[in-house]
Amino acid sequence: VFITFEGPDGSGKTTQLHRLAEHLRRLGQDPLVTREPGGTAIGDKIREIILSPENKEMADPSEVLLYAASRAQHVQEKILPALEQGRLVICDRFVDASVAYQAYGLGMNREAVEAINRFATSGLKPDRTYLLDVSPEVSRERLLNRAGGGSPAVLDRIEQKGLEYHRKVREGFFAIAEAEPVRVRLVKADRSPDAIFAEILEDCLQLLPL
Ligand code: C5P
Ligand code: MG
Repeated sequence: VFITFEGPDGSGKTTQLHRLAEHLRRLGQDPLVTREPGGTAIGDKIREIILSPENKEMADPSEVLLYAASRAQHVQEKILPALEQGRLVICDRFVDASVAYQAYGLGMNREAVEAINRFATSGLKPDRTYLLDVSPEVSRERLLNRAGGGSPAVLDRIEQKGLEYHRKVREGFFAIAEAEPVRVRLVKADRSPDAIFAEILEDCLQLLPL
């Protein structure tokens, strides 16, 4: 079973993902917990190139392809082998993030982004996706607090983009959730971590053959 978490920075997706994994471990599962971009040695190098605030001149198609390259390595090296062993895989971001950030956010052609990612993943799709939704304003506030109330200089290259960009990304996530309401569960993330977790856990326990 392949589960992904999506949502903007500061939505709490990483916290929730680790909480879910920990809960499932106590139930005797051995999930592979991983993330994108990155998740492999090669993927982590690509992540640095993508996110470094120094790489301001990165062309939009390069960004799409670098995410896809990181994802291809991740699928081949980690995700598919684990799924073949029958392991549960829980991943922080996947193809939906590229549709939201690069297709909707940057305005790249959606069909092209999807085709590139089908190639990169051999068509692998999550069985369930938890899409944690918060407004760009809340997301920004949480990010700045995480950085110690500091200046935007500590944000990565994507986080540094303005509210307008992040509004388009959110529209993209909504469009994905609307198109695939069975796979994608929209979770309101402007609530307490406990309330969010309860909702995710209830759904997940129905999904998993425990
Ligand atoms: O999820 P995480 O915070 O590790 O993501 C790192 C950065 O990459 C974030 O700023 C996120 O917005 C960005 N990202 C992106 N396009 C993707 C995946 C992640 O812009 N397809
Ligand atoms: Mg982040």
